[in-house]
Amino acid sequence: MKKTTMEAKCPICKKVIEFSARYGNYVCNECIDLGTFTEDGRRVRHGNISYSGGFESIIEGETEKGNEHYCYIIKNGIKYNLYADEARFGGIVYLLVNK
Ligand SMILES: [Zn+2]
Repeated sequence: MKKTTMEAKCPICKKVIEFSARYGNYVCNECIDLGTFTEDGRRVRHGNISYSGGFESIIEGETEKGNEHYCYIIKNGIKYNLYADEARFGGIVYLLVNK
């Protein structure tokens, strides 16, 4: 019997992450914990609008909540472009934008 390995890796740090059929190689929490930033270097956080879901972004220094999906993280001096979105079962998932 052949065992099928369903393995996913964080596209940034290559750490093994829980396999997600829906999202594939999403960016792991450790990388996201480094901080997510807008293109002009302001801190941006993403969250659900309510417990039932939704997507919103909160940019440092702004009072209005937005709908900004793109953000950046910097790891080992490399800037990565990420796309944040509402996860199927709540929370936020971050995907690396293919260049
Ligand atoms: Zn990672």
